[in-house]
Amino acid sequence: MSSVIPFARLRVTTDNRTHRPGECAHHNIKLDSRGGIVTCRDCGASLSPFWALTMLAEQYELALDHARRLEDRLARADSRILELSAELDGQTRTKGRLEPAST
Ligand SMILES: [Zn+2]
Repeated sequence: MSSVIPFARLRVTTDNRTHRPGECAHHNIKLDSRGGIVTCRDCGASLSPFWALTMLAEQYELALDHARRLEDRLARADSRILELSAELDGQTRTKGRLEPAST
């Protein structure tokens, strides 16, 4: 009996996936329009179309919330710029009155 394993039986494969299925949120999906198949580009998992639709709806809602927060920050920044501008105008007018006229 031989303990030598013939090389023909050995097969080495490499795994090029960047995420493991258990660690992946499957946010990078691939749609096969012909077969109606949804897979994850990162881990290669097969996903149900319903799951993919739900995930996309959640991501869309998160993106809308983010856009709303950015709009709110922009509105507050605009308001603050107007306040500071009015304050600066007031200081300029007051300063102009107090300064002695140079002749
Ligand atoms: Zn994945």
